[in-house]
Amino acid sequence: MIEYGHFIGGKAVAGKSGRTGEVFQPMDGTVRAHVAFASRAEVRAAVENAKAAQGGWAAVNPQRRARVLMKFLDLIAKYDDELADILAREHGKTIGDAKGDIQRGVEVVEFALGVPHLMKGEYTDGAGPGIDLYSMRQPLGVVAGITPFNFPAMIPLWKLAPAIACGNAFILKPSERDPGVPMRLGEIFVEAGGPPGILNVVNGDKEAVDAILDDPDIQAIGFVGSTPIAHYIYSRGTATGKRVQCFGGAKNHMVVMPDADVDAAADAAVSAAYGSAGERCMAISVVVAVGAVADELVEAISSRIEDVVVGPGSDPASMMGPLVTAEHRDRVTAYVHGAAEEGARVVVDGSSQRWSQGFFTGCSLIDEVKPGMRLYDDEIFGPVLGVVRTPTFDDAVALVNANPYGNGVALFTRDGGTARRFEREITVGMVGINVPIPVPVAFYSFGGWKASLFGDSPIYGPEGVRFYTRPKVVTSRWPEPTESAIDLGFPSTR
Ligand code: NAD
Repeated sequence: MIEYGHFIGGKAVAGKSGRTGEVFQPMDGTVRAHVAFASRAEVRAAVENAKAAQGGWAAVNPQRRARVLMKFLDLIAKYDDELADILAREHGKTIGDAKGDIQRGVEVVEFALGVPHLMKGEYTDGAGPGIDLYSMRQPLGVVAGITPFNFPAMIPLWKLAPAIACGNAFILKPSERDPGVPMRLGEIFVEAGGPPGILNVVNGDKEAVDAILDDPDIQAIGFVGSTPIAHYIYSRGTATGKRVQCFGGAKNHMVVMPDADVDAAADAAVSAAYGSAGERCMAISVVVAVGAVADELVEAISSRIEDVVVGPGSDPASMMGPLVTAEHRDRVTAYVHGAAEEGARVVVDGSSQRWSQGFFTGCSLIDEVKPGMRLYDDEIFGPVLGVVRTPTFDDAVALVNANPYGNGVALFTRDGGTARRFEREITVGMVGINVPIPVPVAFYSFGGWKASLFGDSPIYGPEGVRFYTRPKVVTSRWPEPTESAIDLGFPSTR
């Protein structure tokens, strides 16, 4: 049995609180590990280590900080198979999907290598008599990331790479359901030459999160998870004056126009709805079939579901793995069981498939879903795709815009004018045109709108550098010795 403690001050340390949780292996339902839940004192110990190390790290020139991240990247590549294996075992996703999880995180580390350029300031020569102005960006100090179970490599890397590149020390509180990869990232960072204390991993539950929220030395918190917790962390963190960005849940729509390529749209819908068993914040969970396309599209999607091989991530033939816990699987299947009673039509009932072990459920497709049904209103976060039928494009846009979430959306059409209108009118942060999961590449930034993001600061890309630094502007005057005189007026350049 694996025992996960914490990674503090450059080494793995045992948990001291006496409280632990179980880490399951969803492919067979066994308990793979126990994970320690940190007390306030243990979180404080991590902060003290981070504080002690941060000043020295910030003073290292940015080229050398980037070189440590380069080595970190090399080692992540070296350990790719091991990391993917841990990830697939604890999360349940397939090995190929686990490698994608790692790769999308790696791309943000690659972007962070540009930190010498990204932190450059501006300079104005001669803004007044003998006066020059220049700006600089400085790290915040000790910052924290609180991350969800569904991307245990990618989301920690999205947060820690820009933060550390900019000269901060980082406290990571990963999900208690799959802490194995985050713990390895702490070790790999030190192996890459990262100073002890710059990347700390504190495992735990609400107690650890509350300790982070209340700690006076933590300057900023980046959270990713469900909307109620995002709201809680944003409210409590900002109340104590911290800089906070909180990414919440999602209900992502894929609008399919009557002129769309139905085969391409159906392939995209199946991939985006059932990939990672629907446990992606950018998964498509609602197809909006506009006008006459609906019957053909539902038929095309349901016929493709037969080809989705559901099985353990360790089997190379598997296309979709289990859900993260038995409890979550039961919650997901309850939506399918209740669909007919809500007035929807079950086209494919994946919940009726049975496995001898593990937290599996099959792919479900539910037609004639409407707002007001729990199937539509709730984030299900499983392999359940709903179809809403709308008569027109305008109805489809109104439906998406009325949804409280605004993470991702996709439009499938062959008409450029329709696409252009859609991009402008839709109140969602990330838009795909004939692309079902429009997660921006690492040199843009990622972020939803409405209940999918509290705060206005997206993750990674240029916004990531802004979030983990603060600007300073220096007004510098080197006058001729004879020019000095008293002037009580307000300084201006008039
Ligand atoms: P979650 O909200 O349950 O947990 C996220 C983190 O918050 C974990 O580290 C957890 O330990 C902590 N936490 C849980 N309950 C808490 C509480 N009561 N008080 C303080 N901290 C608490 O989310 P999850 O189930 O791990 O992840 C799935 C959710 O994350 C989905 O809603 C999904 O849409 C969302 N998500 C959003 C994005 C995005 O970019 N918007 C990305 C990935 C996942």
